[in-house]
Amino acid sequence: MEQCLFCRIVAGEIPAEIVHRDENVVVFRDINPQAPVHLLAIPTKHIARLTQPEAADGAMLSQIFSVIQKMATIEGLDEGFRVVTNCGDNAGQTVHHLHFHILGKRCLSWPPG
Ligand code: 5GP
Ligand code: ZN
Repeated sequence: MEQCLFCRIVAGEIPAEIVHRDENVVVFRDINPQAPVHLLAIPTKHIARLTQPEAADGAMLSQIFSVIQKMATIEGLDEGFRVVTNCGDNAGQTVHHLHFHILGKRCLSWPPG
């Protein structure tokens, strides 16, 4: 997936402020943060979105959520935070590599826009 922006971040071809990296999961700060803490947690493997068959890999999703839990502690999000994945055009997905937004350190309204 040479053209995929997030694959290029995983490969180190595009700079990003990476806060966690292991064999299966990378977490980095969003370039256009929507909250004081705005991280993106992604699988190192290219999966376009949550409805792709490869995203049914429960072990991978479990690992991502385990890392999200760890990052919430490290970033001091004990007063609350939100995890979001935008899946497809109607949800406003702009980067077609599965990613989970982690937003925190401000009050977040509901329902979302
Ligand atoms: P989506 O709209 O697909 O759910 O979210 C994509 C996110 O990726 C957006 O929040 C956007 O700000 C972020 N983003 C886009 N390009 C880059 C980049 O080059 N570096 C980083 N760190 N984030 C990016
Ligand atoms: Zn990719």
